[in-house]
Amino acid sequence: MNDYIIRATAGNGAIRAFAATTKNTVEKARSLHNTSPVATAALGRLLTAAAMMGIMLKGEKDLLTLQIRGDGPLQGMVVSADSNAKVKGYVFNPYVEVPDKYEGKLDVSAAIGHGNLSVIKDIGLKEPYSGQIELISGEIAEDLTYYFAKSEQTPSAIGLGVLIDTDITVMAAGGFIIQLMPDASDEIAEKLEEKINRTPYVTSLLDMGYTPEDILKLILGDFDIEINEKKEVEFYCNCTRERVEKALISLGKEELEKIIEEDKKAQLHCHFCNKEYNFTENDLKEILKNAL
Ligand SMILES: [Zn+2]
Repeated sequence: MNDYIIRATAGNGAIRAFAATTKNTVEKARSLHNTSPVATAALGRLLTAAAMMGIMLKGEKDLLTLQIRGDGPLQGMVVSADSNAKVKGYVFNPYVEVPDKYEGKLDVSAAIGHGNLSVIKDIGLKEPYSGQIELISGEIAEDLTYYFAKSEQTPSAIGLGVLIDTDITVMAAGGFIIQLMPDASDEIAEKLEEKINRTPYVTSLLDMGYTPEDILKLILGDFDIEINEKKEVEFYCNCTRERVEKALISLGKEELEKIIEEDKKAQLHCHFCNKEYNFTENDLKEILKNAL
């Protein structure tokens, strides 16, 4: 099964909801970055959230970036998504190991530690929109819930989960975001809160084989749910040799000449997909010529 997100409305438009299955996306991130189980879980949760937040963007070319910086051994991570649910991301320390929270439960919050979360939206304006909060738990779903309440004044319920197999590959991943629209009545808000409090953890739902449709039906089944859209999710990096050349050119003529003289080559690395780009002395001379 391919990864996908569904977008739904419920309660006569008072509720909007997203749910995703992201096993392949998170497994691709794991294999590209060689992440340890707890790093895979952290990155997978953030990638899943970014994919759902990406499709909230309105413009075709809009971009969303989520950054977490923490004082834990993971140090932080960066994830980006476009409005078509193409996501990419990396962690600062992929090899981190921390003791489990309890048996079988990876301790993402211990890996992240205290720090902050930034949400950056490039929606084609001169300056991108940027909101930042302090992490409240480092579990990511709770931190994003707090971000939506504080920075976007949108009450939300967020669940994110990644299940790791015994061979450390990804067994299942997914999540949901459910939000109350400004015109939601108190009655709907209370009923929804009650329902969410009784919803099992996403990891349990994934373990039971719940699809995104099943998850939303479980939570919103009493609210006249209507599924409006289904979109494929994919880990995709748009780096190219051409873009990397542009980055080299932007260093300036002097810096390039210095590299040619001292190093006689250059190796650039894409953080998002771990790809290496190698430039020989001749390549660099050619770039220098074109840069003038
Ligand atoms: Zn790349």
